[in-house]
Amino acid sequence: MELREIVIIGAGPAGYAAGLYAGRAQLSPLLLTGREIGGQLSLTLDIENYPGYGGSSAGELIQTMQKQAESFGTEIRYDYVTGVDFGNHPFVLTTETGGEIRAKAVVICTGSSPRHLDVPGEELVGKGVSYCATCDGFFFREKRVVVVGGGDAAIEEGLFLTRFASEVHVVHRRDQLRASPTLQERAFANSRMHFVWNSVVEEILGDGASGVTSVRLRDVTNGATRDFSTDGVFIFIGHLPNTSLFEGVLDMDDGGYIRVDDHQQTSISGVFAGGDVHDHMFRQAITAAGAGAAAAIEAERFLARLGNRAYPGSIRQG
Ligand code: NAP
Repeated sequence: MELREIVIIGAGPAGYAAGLYAGRAQLSPLLLTGREIGGQLSLTLDIENYPGYGGSSAGELIQTMQKQAESFGTEIRYDYVTGVDFGNHPFVLTTETGGEIRAKAVVICTGSSPRHLDVPGEELVGKGVSYCATCDGFFFREKRVVVVGGGDAAIEEGLFLTRFASEVHVVHRRDQLRASPTLQERAFANSRMHFVWNSVVEEILGDGASGVTSVRLRDVTNGATRDFSTDGVFIFIGHLPNTSLFEGVLDMDDGGYIRVDDHQQTSISGVFAGGDVHDHMFRQAITAAGAGAAAAIEAERFLARLGNRAYPGSIRQG
């Protein structure tokens, strides 16, 4: 069975940064991409908030990250991890193509995915549907947008959107926000923020050529529907970390995010995590890349300590 010093799971900014650092540490890392190359970056067309990056295409940034990692010896493999055995060392990863890979250290960068509304038209991502105001807000200058959700993310991102959009309409399924009182106060005081209460989006209307043109709203109190014209729909109804593979294996918080210590170390020695898979606060490409790099640095230190010695044995850290 194939044996690697280090295997990185995930092909977003965290995974590629981990690949870059582990490659430069001469560990010949293997990076298993999963199905979503680019992770959350693949959800946006343009990126202008990655320091030092002069381009604007998120796809181009991801390609550059991949090439840079490869140039230092990271092997990129288009495969999807379907099972992990962290109970023995070296660890064993099973993949979709049927392969089994043993790894002395693992860095998990599987990211998170925005919770979807699961309504028709939601596939117009990049054509008016977005899950990231920081990424896409700039492209809605003086436009009318809809924000779906009533939590901290919806209100915070909605407020951010008022820097660009002339009207931000928050569509919430209840008549009270879940967001913190401070955010609510700011939202209610902002003349660009408007609220559509007790309503859900049933359908997003538009097409690939003209983009989003309106949303079909249903009033949950009486069932009445109406079409509400808008240039964009920003959906903030929570995120789901991509951690189902590690349920019952690694310690996680109530939201399913992997718990890590100050060294990006999970509850199992030699298994590290970086990026949105453990961070539900920032969720930016730059913060994910930083955490992925830190995880790889710590993995390299773990391997150096391990040396030719046997695995420390007591693997669960409490
Ligand atoms: P959240 O707090 O779970 O809020 C999700 C919102 O989406 C809720 O208002 C919920 O409605 C609504 N929702 C869920 N499913 C829906 C559906 N299918 N259709 C329509 N609406 C739906 O998620 P979040 O806002 O992403 O925040 C996640 C965590 O990060 C929270 O702990 C939050 O406090 C934290 N956070 C903090 C900050 C900050 O402090 N500045 C910023 C962002 C996030 P209901 O209210 O009816 O359930």
